[in-house]
Amino acid sequence: MSVQDVLVVAEVQRDALADVALELLSAARSITAATGGEVVALVLSADGARYAGRLAAADRVVLIDDPQLAAYAPGPYLAAIEEIVAAERPRAVLIGATSIGWDLAPMLAARLKAPMVAGATAIEVSNGELVVTSSFCGAKMLAEVGVAASPAVLMVLPGSFRPAAETGKGAVQSRTLSKPVDPGPIRFEQFILPQAGDVDITQQDILVAVGRGIQQKENVELAEQLAGVLGGAVCASRPVVDQGWLPATRQVGKSGMTVKPKLYLALGISGAPEHQEGMKGSDLIIAVNTDPNAPIFDFAHYGAEVDAVELLPALVEAVQAGG
Ligand SMILES: Cc1cc2nc3c(=O)[nH]c(=O)nc-3n(C[C@H](O)[C@H](O)[C@H](O)COP(=O)(O)OP(=O)(O)OC[C@H]3O[C@@H](n4cnc5c(N)ncnc54)[C@H](O)[C@@H]3O)c2cc1C
Repeated sequence: MSVQDVLVVAEVQRDALADVALELLSAARSITAATGGEVVALVLSADGARYAGRLAAADRVVLIDDPQLAAYAPGPYLAAIEEIVAAERPRAVLIGATSIGWDLAPMLAARLKAPMVAGATAIEVSNGELVVTSSFCGAKMLAEVGVAASPAVLMVLPGSFRPAAETGKGAVQSRTLSKPVDPGPIRFEQFILPQAGDVDITQQDILVAVGRGIQQKENVELAEQLAGVLGGAVCASRPVVDQGWLPATRQVGKSGMTVKPKLYLALGISGAPEHQEGMKGSDLIIAVNTDPNAPIFDFAHYGAEVDAVELLPALVEAVQAGG
């Protein structure tokens, strides 16, 4: 162990390793490439061995198996991470900005009396100091934060780093905690899946996605027409669902569905990290937005600086004429 090691909390939810875990390994590697030290992945679960293979890009994979860690609850997770941090003394602890991460990271930082940066989208090392780019206000603002103290707790936005593909040493170490895990006052009861909707947007090859830029409820009908002629379905960003223009089952993003269609046509969507999280795996992303500085243009494959409401009827007509 070395004070330059970077600890990655590899999140497991509903018996699956979260995709962001591999992105965190890349982020950690970008730090250790500059500072030295190892990338250490930490898996908290009831049966961690089955996740270790996917974490081979780490130098070491530390497994803590305990029935209390089978599903997320803050008490057992905090106790386990605190003990590993005390033993490993890492330079930084990386946690994904997921629902679990948002709960866990601030509490961990408070318990460790460590600095925390939320919304991390890039991490550099300058004169031995971590310089973290933090995205906030729906990616409309970025701050560069220098963090000298160790350990630093960094909550990294999903989609900010390429998933690690390379193979590391991946040495697997099983550890037991020094004392029995106290379940604490907050316990996992039940995972409640959202009700199945009229259309399962996760199964569609073509999605026409509408955001606040669609302006009014009546214009969602235009998007429905386009989806109809393309053979796809309509989905939406959160403000559209919050307005009641579409049901919650059509929401894409952090608090909605994760979709990976062949085509994701984003109309009047700014591309906030919480939305990006749910659609970044799409094969082809085409963004239509009137603002040339909209963040979605940074990760869309194609973009058009056009009024989506004016474009929609013309697109329907063109597809009908072409088909
Ligand atoms: C904990 C948490 C969870 C969240 N979960 C989600 C989630 O699951 N899904 C989600 O989407 N968001 C989620 N959000 C909200 C997210 O941060 C953004 O606020 C939201 O994604 C913005 O939606 P939008 O792009 O439709 O709206 P805006 O950010 O308001 O963007 C509207 C865009 O439309 C463009 N526009 C305006 N008029 C036109 C026009 N006529 N033609 C073309 N373009 C036009 C504008 O230039 C702008 O870029 C979450 C936020 C938090 C804090």
